[in-house]
Amino acid sequence: MPFSEFAGNPETIHRLREMLARKRFPHAVILSGAHGSGKYTLALMLARTMNCLEQPIKGGTDGLPDFCGRCANCTRIAQSEDLDSRFAEAVEARENLRDTDKKETRLFVQTHPDVLIVPPDPPQLMIKVDQVRHVIETIYYRPAEARERVYIFTSSAFMKEAANSLLKVLEEPPEFATIFLLTENPGELLPTIRSRSMTFNLEALAATEIESRLAQLRPDWNARQRALVARLSEGAVGRALSFDLESYIAARNHALIMLKSALGGRDKDNDNAHTELFKTTETYRSGAEGREKIDHLLRTLYSLLEDLMFLQSGAGQLVRNTDILGELKKMSESADFAWVQRAADGLGEVERGLRRNLLRSLSLDAFATALERVS
Ligand SMILES: [Zn+2]
Repeated sequence: MPFSEFAGNPETIHRLREMLARKRFPHAVILSGAHGSGKYTLALMLARTMNCLEQPIKGGTDGLPDFCGRCANCTRIAQSEDLDSRFAEAVEARENLRDTDKKETRLFVQTHPDVLIVPPDPPQLMIKVDQVRHVIETIYYRPAEARERVYIFTSSAFMKEAANSLLKVLEEPPEFATIFLLTENPGELLPTIRSRSMTFNLEALAATEIESRLAQLRPDWNARQRALVARLSEGAVGRALSFDLESYIAARNHALIMLKSALGGRDKDNDNAHTELFKTTETYRSGAEGREKIDHLLRTLYSLLEDLMFLQSGAGQLVRNTDILGELKKMSESADFAWVQRAADGLGEVERGLRRNLLRSLSLDAFATALERVS
């Protein structure tokens, strides 16, 4: 049954389905959880369950409502599953409009007439008042082809006026509509919106649980790689499944070159490391693509420094880059706590430099050489 495919949080899923079974489902539901924790997947599963034409309730082992995944409603709602692609299509469609229309067109994703996805509107990436107005214009009409109208706001970054408009809907929601608000931080929503909604939190999964999911779904990764990805995705199964292992490893190799060169100190034996360092940092250029590459590198550097910190404070079980544990241990022997601290501060300096548009490769060199231990 489809709900059994949802990763983790069994009690929360059970409660939500039980409320559906008793026809006591709230009109406004806040689904909170980290990026990649499954909020959107869950909202779409619930939307299908509300509207499935086959309602395979008794087919399941637990007797709770589920969805068939095959009927017209299920398949059309499922077309919204790939949110990134649907969102990109909507943005492109708007780009192709005449300038006057472009201004007045708000972004939505809609693959079923009664299920509307409201993403944050670019370039500010906020929910705008015109998007909420469109919700208000449609929500009081009975659904056309479904039993329940469903609205899914994929972000809690509302413009002020938009939040106030949403509040008006929540004060008087129609019998046949459900609003889902997805958020990484419920505190970002108005207290008055929160008090009119029921909040469900999707907790992080244990690394072992993610590893066993990956064993089924990413058989192309070996056990070491699965263990690494499970730790790096911090309990969010969506992040684990879409993890770009190749670019992570590439960034990490660069990060290791930098840290090792710094740890090697200023003696002659370290000349090779220096040459390698400058070759590496030279590949970091300006432009949008370069920006992404260096962000990736900085995040990776932080994660390695954190691992070194764990090793030095005797908390080796928290290390995330488990596949290079031996290498990290060796590094942590030659780096003391103060050095790691200094390195983390240095990274902050690089980030500030980047904001001032200093030459990328230069500020990376400066970072690595500033950390060299004077022997
Ligand atoms: Zn169905």
